[in-house]
Amino acid sequence: MRKLLFLLALMLVWSAAVQTARAQSAKPFTLVLDAGHGGKDPGALGTAGKEKNINLAVALAVGRLVEQNLKDVKVIYTRKTDVFVELDERAAIANRAKANLFVSIHTNALPKGAQGRGSETYTLGMHRAADNLDVAKRENAAIMLEKDYESRYEGFDPKSAESYIIFEFMQDKNMEQSVKLATLIQQQFRAAGRIDKGVHQAGFLVLRATSMPSCLVELGYITTASEQAYLTSDRGVNELAMSIYQAIKKYKATQQ
Ligand SMILES: [Zn+2]
Repeated sequence: MRKLLFLLALMLVWSAAVQTARAQSAKPFTLVLDAGHGGKDPGALGTAGKEKNINLAVALAVGRLVEQNLKDVKVIYTRKTDVFVELDERAAIANRAKANLFVSIHTNALPKGAQGRGSETYTLGMHRAADNLDVAKRENAAIMLEKDYESRYEGFDPKSAESYIIFEFMQDKNMEQSVKLATLIQQQFRAAGRIDKGVHQAGFLVLRATSMPSCLVELGYITTASEQAYLTSDRGVNELAMSIYQAIKKYKATQQ
């Protein structure tokens, strides 16, 4: 009888241990999708389309693909509608959720007269950022629509090259993983027939404040007519979203 009780107790302890282990392994992989701009901040403007709407359409489409196909991934959106969200709040949403991955989705623009085609992906970094300062300046300029941005971003002036020098001293522990994800995204874009504009580094405020691997995608050029037509079409949105989804799926597979 005592032996039986002992066995029973052992079984109870064992099953409790198994349940705890299951609960731990079931901790979801959390993905934050950040549709750039929104509300009073339209982002880059084309002749017909606005960056904020393209970013949101693609972010929602990526999220749907993940939710339908990767059941163990929890998706959090920094916005699901046309609202203004501050840059540091976007990062804070990801940090509070202890997210595994942060993907910011944007659309590129060039000055009048210049033509550009293709997709590119950025990670945070400044060591080769002189070429990419224009993109960072444009994306960071969103903070100028925020209240008290001078004090909240510690004197950072998104338009001044000097402000970016501070980025050089930042060691990003997530750099390797971020570059891995960015490389996978570009591979998928290339496979889908997009011109591959490569993986780059630049000083994006929204990436600086995140504490997990992160990257910022520039889907294409809203200021080039053929690109704008693609970016605002269902086909374009679906193909771009599928590429980002496939890359996230492959990235996640490397984390297990
Ligand atoms: Zn943008």
